[in-house]
Amino acid sequence: MSYFSLGLVRFKYVVTIVKSMKEGCAVLRVYNTLSRSKEPFEPVEPPLVRMYVCGPTVYDEAHMGHARTYVAFDTIRRILEFFGYEVFYVQNITDIDDKIINRAEAEGASPADIAERYSASYFRDMDDLNVRRADVHPRVTDHMEDIIEAVARLIEKGVAYEADGNVYFEVSSFPHYGRLSGVKFEELIAGARVEPDAAKKNPADFALWKKERREGVGWSSPWGYGRPGWHIECSVMSTKYLGPRLDIHGGGQDLIFPHHENEIAQSESLTGISSFVKYWIHTGYLTIKGEKMSKSLGNYVTIREVLRRHSAGAVRLFLLSTHYRSPIDFMWEGLEAAESNLRYLVNTMDRLEASIRQAEMGSGPVEMHAKITENAKKFILALEDDFSTPVALSHMYRLARELNAYLDDQETFERGVLERGLRVIAKACETLGIVTGKSLSVPEIVEKLIKILVEVRSDARRRRDWKLADELREKLRESGVVLEDKGDKTLWKITR
Ligand SMILES: [Zn+2]
Repeated sequence: MSYFSLGLVRFKYVVTIVKSMKEGCAVLRVYNTLSRSKEPFEPVEPPLVRMYVCGPTVYDEAHMGHARTYVAFDTIRRILEFFGYEVFYVQNITDIDDKIINRAEAEGASPADIAERYSASYFRDMDDLNVRRADVHPRVTDHMEDIIEAVARLIEKGVAYEADGNVYFEVSSFPHYGRLSGVKFEELIAGARVEPDAAKKNPADFALWKKERREGVGWSSPWGYGRPGWHIECSVMSTKYLGPRLDIHGGGQDLIFPHHENEIAQSESLTGISSFVKYWIHTGYLTIKGEKMSKSLGNYVTIREVLRRHSAGAVRLFLLSTHYRSPIDFMWEGLEAAESNLRYLVNTMDRLEASIRQAEMGSGPVEMHAKITENAKKFILALEDDFSTPVALSHMYRLARELNAYLDDQETFERGVLERGLRVIAKACETLGIVTGKSLSVPEIVEKLIKILVEVRSDARRRRDWKLADELREKLRESGVVLEDKGDKTLWKITR
């Protein structure tokens, strides 16, 4: 594909890295939901990694459950890049759906308005969490022709059928159905986990196209006015941008059945290739008081609310302190702890930097270099073991403690060891996306400038010049300074 022929120089450079990596230390191992085991990671065309992650349905503010999933995949992408892979990352935006339509009706707005508002707020939250954008964020409504064509091809192939303006995929036509989730076809026939519908040949069959009666929320198709089922969009958009074989397909574990099971049936039926995805990666739940955090249960905390109280680095550190496949219970105390761990790492980096300026020339004690090597190696080994960020982090805390102890014990230091220690911790923090700059501490002059701007804005608010006040708030936010108005006082915080 044309996307991949770009940057040949970088490509050659990365091939060299991957080759030496394979000959050297242990290779990356990844847990694959399909085999329920950790497997050596061997993408179809290394160093390229084709990665697709199911994106959000944009009908409301994103909550911490979303943060959990998307921070995990952002980190996996960063780690793959750290290991020398070239990741091509696609994440869809579901911008037409029952929830979006319902919200639009309740507000007297159009579904497009609702989708626009909440995709903007989703991207704002992700940017603030230092989650890098995917290479492509395809939207369903921009791909309606592709979807209709795919549905028509499935009918042509005899694996889908039309019934009264709806089109269903015939599950019995796909022999491997249930391979990912372990769900048995017989259980599905009993209708225990699917909605029975008189129009379906079999209760397990699922909708590719749904008839729509309401005006303005559908598209015309060979089967009449309607809109696509949810599963088909991911099959169509992943294949369109990444080809028939993906290396990684990810999402929250609640998507394994039926969403990902259905994606496999559709995609493999469409392409005739029997290995749509090489590695299925699923993230564990984010729970609150032991229950899955979700919009439908109403037990959610929005990302915005959390970022009002905590830095993005601390939020990421909180999430990455648990392995991506294990559940995380959301607790404000956990975020406090993450904040202090982050501060410890940042303070250590600041201290190292300040000490370098006073240090003498020289490489420093051999045993300190050995400690740095040991912890750096263990950091890498942990990431190679199915992206084990909690173990990787524990080695960075240990290295920080050892470097601090060295600084505490010595009267004079040599530059070499401090520079190397700083480099290792900074690189580790960057790889996990927990510290964006080298340091979070604010120079005095910057602090003074922020205070002046906040004062100008407070003046504007007193004059009821909301336009200027909002503009200043937005400009500051773009620069990484978040304001919070408390009565007539305004608090500010640097988020990155
Ligand atoms: Zn999907």
